[in-house]
Amino acid sequence: MSTRERACRNCRRIVTGNVCDNCGSTNLTENYQGLLIIINPEKSKIAEVLNAKKPGYYAVKVA
Ligand SMILES: [Zn+2]
Repeated sequence: MSTRERACRNCRRIVTGNVCDNCGSTNLTENYQGLLIIINPEKSKIAEVLNAKKPGYYAVKVA
């Protein structure tokens, strides 16, 4: 099992496990660019667009 950071292709959340803890997707990639930090998902426009329900790191772009 890898502990490398990967981005969820579905919601772009940066995860270290094999499953995205934001949306439950296992469609992850090491091929991502940029980092967004979402602190207040309820107040963030970006979080709304990404459908991010949890604070944390998100990729700007996933391949
Ligand atoms: Zn996800």
